[in-house]
Amino acid sequence: MATAIPHDSLAMLRQLVSFDTTSRGSNLALIEFVRDYLDGHGISSELVYDDTGRKANLFATIGPPDIGGIVLSGHTDVVPVDGQDWRSDPFTLVERDGKAYGRGAADMKSFLAAALALVPEFKARTLRLPIHLAFSYDEEVGCLGVRGLLAELARREVKPRACIVGEPTEMRPVTGHKGKKSIRCAVHGFACHSALAHEGVNAVEAAAEIVAYIKGMARRKREHGPFHDGFVPPYTTVHTGVIKGGTALNIVPQECSFDFEFRYVPGDDPEALFEEIARFAEEHVLPEMRAVRPETGFGFTEIAAFPGLDTRDDAEVTQLVLALTGANATGKVSFGTEGGLFHQAGIPAVICGPGSIEQAHKPDEFIAVEQIVQCETFLRRLADRTAAGA
Ligand SMILES: [Zn+2]
Repeated sequence: MATAIPHDSLAMLRQLVSFDTTSRGSNLALIEFVRDYLDGHGISSELVYDDTGRKANLFATIGPPDIGGIVLSGHTDVVPVDGQDWRSDPFTLVERDGKAYGRGAADMKSFLAAALALVPEFKARTLRLPIHLAFSYDEEVGCLGVRGLLAELARREVKPRACIVGEPTEMRPVTGHKGKKSIRCAVHGFACHSALAHEGVNAVEAAAEIVAYIKGMARRKREHGPFHDGFVPPYTTVHTGVIKGGTALNIVPQECSFDFEFRYVPGDDPEALFEEIARFAEEHVLPEMRAVRPETGFGFTEIAAFPGLDTRDDAEVTQLVLALTGANATGKVSFGTEGGLFHQAGIPAVICGPGSIEQAHKPDEFIAVEQIVQCETFLRRLADRTAAGA
């Protein structure tokens, strides 16, 4: 690759932002750039591709390969800029008044950039505990990509010891977020003239009864919990976000589909909540539909799911991140991350990265340059720790 290798975080961020890695497209240009850059520093990368070969995760280890170290984890994909009104080209980093603007500046290419820019420093130290880089694809569309990487890591004898997910927390240690499960329900009714409504099966009304039941569940969660301090709100939320059905008022609607989701706190089981909804539909909605037309019914399909994160304050990784940031308390966030999947894979995780989620996904997304400086300090301290062996 002809591009000069940048050696500082902002120059690296400029490079990373210049790759349009919107989740719907390929991330390979960025991944190959990172691979070549690491290669230039004598570090080999492992690429774990998706089924189409258009996207890949990257995993690399700096330091001894035969022991498990600390993973620096981040996603390479970004959300679309479609329909957003940007003051400048979203894929050209623009610096103005101590801020750097560009898609992914906050979520979360600055963390990747700082980690990459410090690779020569990591390399120059004799790390007794390795630092791993784990860069994923398709995080923004349901934490999909990292699953392939975790499956690959699970096959190895040596597993990383802990993971730091660099999602934007303004460099504050975050130990928890809710899990999410989203489901589509497709209701198949029977169409006829609305004047003969008794001969049809109204898919919109059947859907509405299930949606109303879901709303009842949401109220119950709000009133009776379980409650988990630190989350906002401190209970599981359940809601229906999309509904589509019917064609004209004088036709009994044949089809209706709706999407609902759980964002659940630790201690709540999304599977049990879903079973409850399915049972209601089966026992209270379906019989009336089938009595008119036996071929009617509905089906549920999962849209996306990722587990929550609830790392203990006394966990080794939490203590490490507290020490690296100098913070004396941990927090929780309302957005999901890949951290829950790392945890599920037996790799304890804490979230800590530069920038604010307030700026993520919006037009004129930016990172305060001071945040990148803080992130560099954090990573240098990590290198000190890993050079010392813990
Ligand atoms: Zn993110």
